[in-house]
Amino acid sequence: MGNKYVRVHSNDVTTAAKNALIRRGVKIEDIAEIVYEMQKPYNDGLQFEHCVNSVDRVLQKREVQHAVLVGIELDELAEKKLLSQPLQRIIESDEGLFGVDETLALGAVLTYGSIAVTTYGHLDKKKIGIIEKLDTKVGEKIHTFLDDLVASIAASAASRIAHKLRDLEEDGETFADIPPVSLSSSVSNPKDEND
Ligand code: MG
Repeated sequence: MGNKYVRVHSNDVTTAAKNALIRRGVKIEDIAEIVYEMQKPYNDGLQFEHCVNSVDRVLQKREVQHAVLVGIELDELAEKKLLSQPLQRIIESDEGLFGVDETLALGAVLTYGSIAVTTYGHLDKKKIGIIEKLDTKVGEKIHTFLDDLVASIAASAASRIAHKLRDLEEDGETFADIPPVSLSSSVSNPKDEND
């Protein structure tokens, strides 16, 4: 039996997706800053660490991981000029009508429902925080897919917080009642589908 029948372990995919973001200069905290800025006005007691944890939980999702891996791979291949024409020129110039970068990121955001979709649309237009930096071309770097992926992850993490707020309200609580747990000590459960 050939190697193609050997499944890739989920832990390897999670690690690869997180490493890809770091390799491209995007930290979890950079994405969490966007989430914090968007959600702070609506959530009493929300702290930056809550947002860091929410981003981390989004990055546990396979749909998100796969989108991150595909998009970043294409950005990197374009930087190395390894794509065939005319795709090479389309991706390196971030051609306005291309749209596959947005579609890939939109596919990943669907996991988190309508709030995530509308928030993604908002971020695509407003380009808050690191999205703005990625969208502004510097040197040879190509971020055609990366800016949309970051918007997608931030939108999903924001949607998680919006849904969590409702749960808290129904229990007569706010985010102030949830002690933010640092990533190093938090135990993430990728099997928790509601999260
Ligand atoms: Mg783009």
